[in-house]
Amino acid sequence: MARDPKYDILFEPIKLGPKTLKNRFYQVPHCNGFGSEKPGTQAYNRQMKAEGGWGAMCTEYCSISPESDDTHRVSARIWDDEDVRNLSVMCDMLHAQGALAGVELWYGGPHAPCNETRHTPRAPSQVASEFELNSYPRYMDEDDIKIVQQYYVDAALRSRDAGFDIIYVYGAHAYLPFQFLSPYYNKRTDKYGGSFENRARFWKETLEKVREAVGDDCAITARFSIDNIKGKGDVQVREDGVRFLEHVDHLVDFWDLTVSGIVEWGQDAGPSRFFEENHQKPYVMPAREHTKKPIVGVGRITNADTMVEIIKSGQFDIIGAARPSIADPFLPKKIEEGRLDDIRECIGCNVCISRWEYGSAPLICTQNATAGEEYRRGWHPEKYHRAKNADKGVLVVGAGPAGMECAMVLGKREMSAVHLVEADADIGGSVNWISLLGHGDGKENIFRGTARGLGNWKHVVTYRTIQLNKLKNVEVHTSSRLSAQEVREYGAEIVVIATGCHWTRDGLNSLTHDKIEGADPTASWLVTPDEVALGTKEVGHRVLILENEGYFMGVSIAQKLAGAGHDVTLVGPAADIGAYMHYTLEAPMMARDLSRLGVKIHTHTMVDRVGPGHVRVSDVWDPSKTKDFDVDTVVMCTARISNDELYRELKSDQAALQSAGVEELYVIGDAAAPRMIADSIFDGHRLAREIDSENPATPLPFIRERRLWGNVTNQDYEKQLQAERDSAPVP
Ligand code: SF4
Repeated sequence: MARDPKYDILFEPIKLGPKTLKNRFYQVPHCNGFGSEKPGTQAYNRQMKAEGGWGAMCTEYCSISPESDDTHRVSARIWDDEDVRNLSVMCDMLHAQGALAGVELWYGGPHAPCNETRHTPRAPSQVASEFELNSYPRYMDEDDIKIVQQYYVDAALRSRDAGFDIIYVYGAHAYLPFQFLSPYYNKRTDKYGGSFENRARFWKETLEKVREAVGDDCAITARFSIDNIKGKGDVQVREDGVRFLEHVDHLVDFWDLTVSGIVEWGQDAGPSRFFEENHQKPYVMPAREHTKKPIVGVGRITNADTMVEIIKSGQFDIIGAARPSIADPFLPKKIEEGRLDDIRECIGCNVCISRWEYGSAPLICTQNATAGEEYRRGWHPEKYHRAKNADKGVLVVGAGPAGMECAMVLGKREMSAVHLVEADADIGGSVNWISLLGHGDGKENIFRGTARGLGNWKHVVTYRTIQLNKLKNVEVHTSSRLSAQEVREYGAEIVVIATGCHWTRDGLNSLTHDKIEGADPTASWLVTPDEVALGTKEVGHRVLILENEGYFMGVSIAQKLAGAGHDVTLVGPAADIGAYMHYTLEAPMMARDLSRLGVKIHTHTMVDRVGPGHVRVSDVWDPSKTKDFDVDTVVMCTARISNDELYRELKSDQAALQSAGVEELYVIGDAAAPRMIADSIFDGHRLAREIDSENPATPLPFIRERRLWGNVTNQDYEKQLQAERDSAPVP
């Protein structure tokens, strides 16, 4: 299909100073955990988006000096010629696709704790980071300022040598240039502090120096948080925000605008439970009247009509994307080819971000199982090889995330017949009830964002439903619970069990590894998260939720019930409730929302005993300190257990399998072990990708990018160090 002419505007080329962006699709800098030390993984991940039609791809934040080291998180680095060599792979691959390559030059100040390098970061004032623990910078005198500006210049020259077309002087997310601009960070009284012009001086001079160094070889841009969302005393859009645009507009070829600092950058990468598409509009819209340069910006923009509206309204000239480009590297191509229903829409869960925030972990994506696997596993998000055993019939039992994904990929691999059989009336599994969670009263959060619930997560199901419907070799059957005998008699040579998991009712938990006294699975006053979501069990007015899951479940239940008027108490043994939400950037907004809703929270607290109308809890550090609650309902959000009975029964009778003609039997997703939706989908995808390998039950090895002894980097320096070691006198 040809593209709808109403989208033509998205495919117009646009000048970025000396460079031309071939269309208006731009992957803004985003972390992927590959940095400069996994050059193949880095390059293939970005290149896939170029193949999918994006006009430019940028690195993640790219450190310009060992003084800017974010370990345990992974940034790119452009400290020396060996980094140039590694990053040039990405540039070459992007250029081969007709796309531009951008590098985001980064100096973090106190937000870079230098855990690996042990250098001392410099900053405009000696104020500890509000993001890192106990991370202080060294005060920059004018000599220090010149030194750091030279770091930018040297890094810009190296970037040009690596082949980058676009060079960022990155100051969004409260990194160094912004720290000079913001009175929240900058307490100086010299010519770099005080008045707006003084606070803007560092960034302005740095832009001038970088421009002078690379001339017209590269486009120059600044990524700028036009509002730090801290209100008075910091950069606000209608004051220093637009003032700064005007002040240095002549020094940039285009602007990359965003909002917020690093400590709460979920205000920028807004999770869908609090932010709708294009949520930054109120903040970035005023910029238009203050710059003549093109503007790129983000807001989890996945809808082609929204994109057109954004450009026509003048909000942005270029559609920036991080998450939408991760979930669907081929989003532009699908718009171009009129295949809008094939777009794998980002659900705004921020699991991609969580792995980077977690530290040293590669990017993953709930919607796109191939994200980060382009190089090391050779997976392409849109291309599949016909399976070598395509003549075999496959039965997938269970149509949750793992089962849907597995059946879809098997279908795309041209297996002769794939049957996906689901016991429930609808496919989707746990996502069907999870997407009902949260609290969608639409009321403003205390800060920014609006409680919206997890409805966007349902795209996990809709995307796969559409794809499954298109596959002629896949049949989907619902409302059909198969017994072991029925599985054996089904006629499939390959059987995949994807029957999911269930929430335990007996209080089994990760703290005591035991049940909870009095937890009667049959009791009417004891309910599980799915029962709350689906409303299949009555919930009384006074509710106590035991949160031992550590992620979104307990808090989402609390939101839902408190929002519906229940009196909710949330207890959990950990130091924080739903701690993993710090990694998904949802935690601060969730804390505010639970506070707004009047949810009472007790951390470091474990439930010892439950009974009708009564719960006893104790302090995890001092169990002698107990407290009693009178409640009507207890929500056990403790542990999940695999629904693996069918798999175990089938596996235990190999002779019956054999005589029925079942040659292979696998278990995937939560039925193997409960996990995140992203990991369940990955598991289903992985099995289908490797269904024709020698032993599909065991993942094939992947390329590990690592240093091999004897093939070292910095060889001259290493020799010098060895010589010094050898010649050191023995004390
Ligand atoms: Fe979007 Fe979630 Fe994928 Fe991130 S992990 S790109 S938020 S779907």
